[in-house]
Amino acid sequence: MSKKIGLVAHDKKKQDLTVWCSQVKEKLAQYDLFATGTTGQAIIDATQLPITLLKSGPLGGDAQLGAMIVEGELDGLVFFIDPLTAMPHDVDVKALIRLATLYDVPFACNKATADAVLTLF
Ligand code: PGA
Repeated sequence: MSKKIGLVAHDKKKQDLTVWCSQVKEKLAQYDLFATGTTGQAIIDATQLPITLLKSGPLGGDAQLGAMIVEGELDGLVFFIDPLTAMPHDVDVKALIRLATLYDVPFACNKATADAVLTLF
């Protein structure tokens, strides 16, 4: 069965993530991909990769990814975080990071760690 990978980027990091996804498109095509709504649509537009779109992050998409982790349904998370902007849904972002940590899910927060996480699968 394909590994399931979650993809998220805050607004100022979406371009970085779509560029990274384009660079590693062949590898990502081997996985079942899930993404928060706006991030996922941006990646689809850039790469045409098939992605299951969840709700937008501020509307609960991060919480949906967190629930997938709790259910054992996510094998890795790539979340390009913007460390310089306050988020209205910061509490959901923190919860997602906490659950990835708690359940020992490989979690990448920037390009360098995303490259490393991809080598795990
Ligand atoms: P988005 O959500 O992909 O819908 O923008 C990401 C986030 O801000 O958590």
